[in-house]
Amino acid sequence: MKFREIYCSNCKKILGRYNTKYYDYEKINEILKSGHSLHVRKGHQVIIRDFIKKQN
Ligand SMILES: [Zn+2]
Repeated sequence: MKFREIYCSNCKKILGRYNTKYYDYEKINEILKSGHSLHVRKGHQVIIRDFIKKQN
């Protein structure tokens, strides 16, 4: 399964992880702006990166 995660490099914390099946880049960008704007306002570097979950 493929996910995208919102990651703050200043806090070194994953703010959220979203399945690309249900969330496209635009939607995650919206979540970033509405839900995690605090980090952005503080000048933190918040990135959206791909995350691939390994299945055994
Ligand atoms: Zn932060």
